[in-house]
Amino acid sequence: MSDGAETLFERIIAGEIPADVVHQDATTFAFRDINPQARVHVLVVPRKRYRNVGELAAADPQLLADVLSACRKVAELEGIGESGYRVVFNTGADAGQTVFHVHAHVLGGEQLALFGSGHR
Ligand code: AMP
Repeated sequence: MSDGAETLFERIIAGEIPADVVHQDATTFAFRDINPQARVHVLVVPRKRYRNVGELAAADPQLLADVLSACRKVAELEGIGESGYRVVFNTGADAGQTVFHVHAHVLGGEQLALFGSGHR
């Protein structure tokens, strides 16, 4: 993976673009989504860039585990560890991925709607 251009999330991690940071550790960085889709909506991003969760899983399974552990930590910090939360990795066009630096959406704080297009 590498097409050279710096992603929005690399600029956020570098502190060049402001963000509401919720949690960070040696390998991951978590901040509130600017356009929240639930009462709690936090993005968890590995500091090292991969395009999507499939590439991350293939290249660095430990880093994927770090991302998921950070999601759990974020849920605890946000007080939704017990009430429940959803972890989403949008991948590619049909899923609506817009930032090609893998990120987990952590959503919760209320009863979440069913997901998908509604197609059965
Ligand atoms: P995705 O569609 O899965 O690629 O998710 C990208 C997410 O990044 C969207 O939910 C956006 O609302 C969010 N986003 C875009 N720009 C920013 C920003 N500057 N700060 C925080 N979240 C952002």
